[in-house]
Amino acid sequence: MTIRHHISDQLLMAYSGGSLPEAFNLVVATHVSLCDECRARLGAFDAVGGAVLDETEAVAMSDDSLAACLDRIDMLPQATTRKPLKRAGVFPAPLASYFGGGPERVKWRPLGMGVKQAVIRTGRDASARLLYIPAGQAVPDHGHRGLELTLVLQGAFRDESDRFGPGDIEIADEAVEHTPVAEQGPACICLAATDAPLRFNALIPRLAQPFIGI
Ligand code: ZN
Ligand code: ZN
Repeated sequence: MTIRHHISDQLLMAYSGGSLPEAFNLVVATHVSLCDECRARLGAFDAVGGAVLDETEAVAMSDDSLAACLDRIDMLPQATTRKPLKRAGVFPAPLASYFGGGPERVKWRPLGMGVKQAVIRTGRDASARLLYIPAGQAVPDHGHRGLELTLVLQGAFRDESDRFGPGDIEIADEAVEHTPVAEQGPACICLAATDAPLRFNALIPRLAQPFIGI
């Protein structure tokens, strides 16, 4: 897998610091599980974060604080831990752990023209979904009110800016208005997260937006 589009330093730093919404955490964790380069950069940010913690003045802790802390770590959802879990089909480990398996576990909802999506349950501050785009098909032309991360799991798509293949991540913000089109070959399956509803340009997708939940 040759990955050409990576996660920005800003996002990796926020992920390392634990300040991203759950939906973005899932996309970043999934890309990092596929990408040696981003895993190495993340390691550097984690080390810097640890050093900052080391330098801050020690405070007295109660005797049970270590146990309490370990309990909290145990309660974290699987996808936010960095333990290697097993891949399932085209789903890298962090995503497979969300679905308890591979793409066969996904309940797709049709969006028309063969395009399907599945909304993933994450915190309300951002939303995540899987998109299934048949070869040659387009996702409706849209702009963004916030930040959108799109990670390709299978196939590839092109938009006005570039081509995105397996493992590539597209980071789109308010300035981007694009029409992703799936390439010929296997259907394109993507994991996408947004922190605000998309702004569709065609009237019909806009009317449908409350029903399709994106
Ligand atoms: Zn990367
Ligand atoms: Zn977009």
